Amino acid sequence: MQKKVIIVGGGTAGWTTAAYLARMLSHGLSGGLDITLVESPEIGIIGVGEGTFPSIRNTFSRIELDEDSLVREASATFKQGIRFVDWRGVADNQGKDYYVHPFQISAQHADFDLLPYRLLGVAGDASWASASTVQPRVIDARHAPKQIGHAGHNGPLTYAYHFDAVELAALLRRRALALGVKRIEDLVQQVTVREDGHIQSLTTRAHGDLEADLYIDCTGFRAELIGKALRVDFRSLRDQLFVNRAVALQVPYDRPDAPIESQTISTAQGAGWTWDIGLSSRRGVGYVYSTDHISDARAEQVLRDYVGFAAASVESRVLNFEPGYRQIQWKNNCVAIGLSAGFIEPLEATGIGFVEIAALLVSNLFPWNGDYEVCAKQFNPFMARRYENVADFIKLHYCLTRREDSDFWRDNVRPASISDGLKERLERWRFRPPSFLDMDPNHDIFTDANWQYVLYGLGYKTDLTAQAGAFRYYDEARARFVEIRRQGDNALSSLPTHRALIEQVRKSG
Ligand code: FAD
Repeated sequence: MQKKVIIVGGGTAGWTTAAYLARMLSHGLSGGLDITLVESPEIGIIGVGEGTFPSIRNTFSRIELDEDSLVREASATFKQGIRFVDWRGVADNQGKDYYVHPFQISAQHADFDLLPYRLLGVAGDASWASASTVQPRVIDARHAPKQIGHAGHNGPLTYAYHFDAVELAALLRRRALALGVKRIEDLVQQVTVREDGHIQSLTTRAHGDLEADLYIDCTGFRAELIGKALRVDFRSLRDQLFVNRAVALQVPYDRPDAPIESQTISTAQGAGWTWDIGLSSRRGVGYVYSTDHISDARAEQVLRDYVGFAAASVESRVLNFEPGYRQIQWKNNCVAIGLSAGFIEPLEATGIGFVEIAALLVSNLFPWNGDYEVCAKQFNPFMARRYENVADFIKLHYCLTRREDSDFWRDNVRPASISDGLKERLERWRFRPPSFLDMDPNHDIFTDANWQYVLYGLGYKTDLTAQAGAFRYYDEARARFVEIRRQGDNALSSLPTHRALIEQVRKSG
C-alpha cells in the first residue's frame, strides 16, 4: 500500500533525503512512497556546507545526479583532502607546520602494511601521507584527481567535491522533482501531536492541514518537529569541542586564471580555525571560533587579515551553532535529518555525510507496517554512535596540539575535555598504530586510514622499537616507497591542472 511521507525543509538535507527516498522507494507504480516536501522561501536555507567526504559520490550516483551537472550548475570543484596548517604548533624536520589528510588510502594498493615501516624510519623524512600515496603531491601542485574526459565516477585518485551550497540545493531540488517528489512552498505554522506522541498533522499557512505516515524534520537548526513539537533533548558536546560560531565571506579570485585548490585549507587560529575552499567561481572562506575565547569583532578581523585585500568590499555572514546532536533522532512517526538532528562542527565536513547515512537508513528501515518503535530502536543508537565517533575523530585534531599561544588551545588539551574512548585509543596507539581492530565499521564514517593520516600528521609517536625484529619486509617497503615516489612523478606529468579540468567540463556542457 502506498505510504505518504512529508519532508519539512528544502535545504541540502531535505532535498537529498527526498531524492534518495524517491529513487529507492518510489517507482511511479502503485505502492511505494508518495513524497511531498514543504519548504519556506521566507526562512530560506543555511546556505553553507561547501565541503564533502568521498561517500557523497555514492549518494549522488544513487540518485543519478551526474558529476558534470554538479560542476556546471553548482560551481563544484574536486576535493582531494584537507591541508591542516599550524595545527601541530611545532615545525617538522623540514621546518613546516602543516600536514595533509588525503582521501586516497594507501592500503588500497599494498599487499602488506607499509605503515610500520614508515614508523620505523624506512621512508626517511617523508610524512606518512606523502610516503604512502601520491595524492599530497598532486594536491600541492594543484592538479586534478583525474584526466580530462575520464568518464564517470572512477577517477584514478579518490575525491569528493566542494560546491556552492545554495546552487547545490537547487540542483538537488530539480533532481528530486524529476524523480516524482511533490513540492509545496509554504510555512509550517503548527504541528499537532496526538496523545500517544505521534504527529497528527502539520498546519501550513496557505495549504491547510497536511497528513502523512512519516514526517521527516529537515528544518535545520529550528528543529520544528523533533525539537519544538516533540521536545526531544539535544546533547551538547561543547565540553569537548569548543567552536560554536562562524563568520564567513565569499571572496572573488584575484584573476580569472587563478589556480583552484583541490583541497580544503584549514588553518588553525587563536580561537578556532579558518576554512578556505576553492569553487569554480569564487572562494568560500570562514573562521569557526569559540565565543568563549574571542570576540566577534576580533574574529572577523582575523578572517579579513587572513584573506587580505580581496576581502575589502565583501560582506560577512555570521552563523551560530551548538556542537552536538539528539540521541533520539527518530521518535514515533518523526525522523530528524540534517541540522535538526545534530551538527558537530565544520572540520572534516561531516554535516552532509550524516544526511547521507540517515537517508540510507530510513530507506532501509522504512516503517511499511507502522512499526515505528522497532525502526526507531535500530536507528537511534546507530546514529548516536556515529555522532560520538565523529566527535572523537574531530577532537583528535585539537587534543594533540603543542600550541600554547591561547586559552583555546590550552583548554583543548585538558584531559577533562577528551572523552574516555578517545583517551583509550590514544593509549593503545602508543605501541601499535590504528588498525581495523580499533574501528567500528558499522558506525565509523572515518576508517583507520583517516585516523592514521591525522594522528601522524600531528606528529604522534607510536613506538615500534620493541617489535622491530618482527617485521620482515624492510627491503620491499623501501622499494614500495620509491615506487610511490615514481608514480607521483608520473601523476604530476600526466594529470591536468585542477582549473583546466573544471574549465573543460564547464565548456563541454
Ligand atoms: P537548512 O539548510 O537550514 O534548511 C532548513 C530548511 O527548512 C529550509 O528550507 C527552511 O526554509 C525550512 N524550514 C524551516 N522551518 C520551516 C517551517 N516552519 N516551515 C517550512 N519550512 C521550514 N556540512 C558539510 O557537509 N560540509 C561543510 O563544509 C559544512 N560546513 C558548515 C559550516 C558551518 C558554519 C555550518 C553552520 C554548517 C556547515 N555544514 C557543513 C553543515 C551543512 O550546512 C548542513 O548539514 C546542510 O546544509 C544541511 O542543512 P539542513 O538542510 O539541515 O538545514
